[in-house]
Amino acid sequence: GKITIAIDGYSSTGKSTIAKRLAASLQYIYVDTGAMYRAVTLYALNQGLITEAGEVKQADLIAQLSEVKLKFVPNRETGRSDMFLNNVNVEQEIRKMRVSGFVSQIAAIKEVREKLVKMQQEMGKDKGVVMDGRDIGTVVFPNAELKLFMTASPETRATRRYKELLVKGEEVTYAEVLKNVEDRDRIDSTRSISPLTKAKDAIEFDNSDMGLEEQFDRIYSYAQR
Ligand code: C5P
Repeated sequence: GKITIAIDGYSSTGKSTIAKRLAASLQYIYVDTGAMYRAVTLYALNQGLITEAGEVKQADLIAQLSEVKLKFVPNRETGRSDMFLNNVNVEQEIRKMRVSGFVSQIAAIKEVREKLVKMQQEMGKDKGVVMDGRDIGTVVFPNAELKLFMTASPETRATRRYKELLVKGEEVTYAEVLKNVEDRDRIDSTRSISPLTKAKDAIEFDNSDMGLEEQFDRIYSYAQR
């Protein structure tokens, strides 16, 4: 029968690459929960809820949360889903450094997490889902049949993210990307609500050296047992 697969770990550890391939091979649904936190962050930026000094107007954001409508819409061209925020496709926008720079602050807000976790649990309620994020195996689906925890050195991760951003034409330096990856990991791991941590029963993967192919084969065999 179908199972629930939870993939957690630090930023840019190749979680989404593995998750997308697993979902495609198993014909499961793939849910990128990071996209949801990124979309709420974009909303806050667009509404002026983040000051020039970088302070989040938390109370205002919480008061407006019910107006934040998120939806994943399948994209035939990419074969994946695009994130829609209040009926606008924001898939490109949410990947930019402007959003990456604030997303961990937004994701540390209890009310934001409550709203998104509820949506995620609803999306995965029928199993047959691969979900990636930071708290999937610990909070969203603590009973998931297969849990993976991905790690890699900060340099490996920053290099990966830097190349992705360059391809998209973003003007950014390697140093900025490395700092962002490290900042987010620190904030995500130390926040008071649902901090990023490996679930006890998660299988840990360090893909600093291992190629994604080799890794995928191993993970796929776990999913079929
Ligand atoms: O996965 P991605 O790097 O796109 O996630 C962006 C940010 O969203 C993370 O750095 C983290 O702050 C937050 N996040 C989270 N919980 C999740 C998924 C993402 O807190 N389940």
